[in-house]
Amino acid sequence: MKLALIAHDGKKDAMVALAAQFLPLLRHCQIVATGTTGSRLAAEHGLVVERMLSGPLGGDLQIGARLAGGELDGVIFLRDPMTPQPHEPDINALVRACDVHDVPCATNVATARVLLSRWSEALPPSA
Ligand code: PGA
Repeated sequence: MKLALIAHDGKKDAMVALAAQFLPLLRHCQIVATGTTGSRLAAEHGLVVERMLSGPLGGDLQIGARLAGGELDGVIFLRDPMTPQPHEPDINALVRACDVHDVPCATNVATARVLLSRWSEALPPSA
């Protein structure tokens, strides 16, 4: 399973906490992430992460390109709805790409938990 993980600055702690709850699943996934999000997941949980550029520098677009190419099974994108983002068009493009290609996309923790719980059920018993 190939997942993209992205968190805006105001949501990075929430992403790290979320990942802690689903480490068995995430260790079985190929993970791609934007730069800083990926660094934190690697440093704090030891996850193997393919890091793209930081979101404001084009990381969302790089992940969108992967998604449009059929390379991703899901996106966890913890957006901060309270803070204006300089790369708002990129954010919208990625979420739109998820809709165009019918790829599950969670943009808040509650939805992410539902998806990650569902995907965890598909893990082999030993995981
Ligand atoms: P980052 O990018 O993980 O490099 O911070 C995410 C974003 O802010 O869009």
